[in-house]
Amino acid sequence: MTETKTYKQPDEQGYYGNFGGAFIPEMLYPNVKELQDRYLSIMQEEEFQREFRHLLKDYVGRPTPLYKAQRLSDRYKAHVFLKREDLCHTGAHKINNTIGQILLAQRLGKKRIIAETGAGQHGVATATVCALKGIECVVYMGEKDMERQAPNVARMKMLGATVVPAVSGSKTLKDATNEAIRDWINNPVDTHYIIGSVVGPHPYPDMVARFQSVISEEIKTQLLEQTGKENPDYVLACVGGGSNAAGAFYHFLDEESVKLVAVEAAGCGISSGMSAATTQLGKPGILHGSKSLLMQTDDGQVIEPHSISAGLDYPGIGPLHAHLYESGRGIFLSATDKKALAAAFELCKLEGIIPALESAHALHALKMINFRREDVVVVCLSGRGDKDLETYMKHL
Ligand SMILES: *Cc1c(COP(=O)(O)O)cnc(C)c1O
Repeated sequence: MTETKTYKQPDEQGYYGNFGGAFIPEMLYPNVKELQDRYLSIMQEEEFQREFRHLLKDYVGRPTPLYKAQRLSDRYKAHVFLKREDLCHTGAHKINNTIGQILLAQRLGKKRIIAETGAGQHGVATATVCALKGIECVVYMGEKDMERQAPNVARMKMLGATVVPAVSGSKTLKDATNEAIRDWINNPVDTHYIIGSVVGPHPYPDMVARFQSVISEEIKTQLLEQTGKENPDYVLACVGGGSNAAGAFYHFLDEESVKLVAVEAAGCGISSGMSAATTQLGKPGILHGSKSLLMQTDDGQVIEPHSISAGLDYPGIGPLHAHLYESGRGIFLSATDKKALAAAFELCKLEGIIPALESAHALHALKMINFRREDVVVVCLSGRGDKDLETYMKHL
């Protein structure tokens, strides 16, 4: 095992410490190899960067504000800033990644896009960029999730995507992922598979982290303008697969003075049997093509996770985060459904911002840390709460 000198990048085989790699069926080898061979050089092309930056600015609405939340700062006795990913087009950070991957897919000559989605947020972000580029889009979604997330199914259809129900197994995210992989095997030449987080076989975790790293790139510039220093004392972000956290941490990963706090969903409580706190409950194993920590039974069956927020309802985390956990570089906390709800209502009352339930998990961590008065704390507000209104209404 070679040692990674930087936390930012995996080694040649896609490993962050003990986690990562590419565990894929033989039939997918050419597709994944093509991506591995070409993603970095394509992403470094001047014309790619020009178009990526242009779309982030004029289509997504970047840079998103870094907002000093004064009343939240008074309450937690520190300088609390919110990185407003909730203001991105489509309501969350996911579009940063789908914009990047659609541009990459075009340059690879792909004519068709497939994706899997659980709650539908990644499906919507993928359908959006496919409409933007006039590219065919097929989204796999568990049949049960299609019922639970009907508004997002409608959005995807309005945007011109075909939504295919996955009817096997538990009819949820992992079954949708299996269907997407099957499709990719059958359409190896013309199809690109857009994965929605820093998970999947190498190079997806690194590729997605790079696309999302615009979040911390902007934080640095904005903090320098507003406080005179580029580096905060803390960055807080929620972790489902880990893409908004990877983006918010990225340019601070090798800055040891910056404490990186990842907040997982504890659901009904870590030992309740209804949780998604992967680092607390998980063991090393292989999920979606890479080695990471995942929630599994003694014989390796994936345990169905639970969280009140659909975006955190995932049984694993990306290999970068498993490495941050194992190495001690990251601080891993968790918030229960109840605590996340309370944190969401608090942000509404104190700042007039309705956060996504996912982001509310990160906000809860403000209560769990003893700050010094001078600490600069950045919370990644990964998305807005419109999609969660039904859940919020039940708890008003
Ligand atoms: C999907 C989603 C998440 C979780 O995904 P990550 O890859 O962990 O970032 C968090 N927040 C929002 C708003 C989401 O839509």
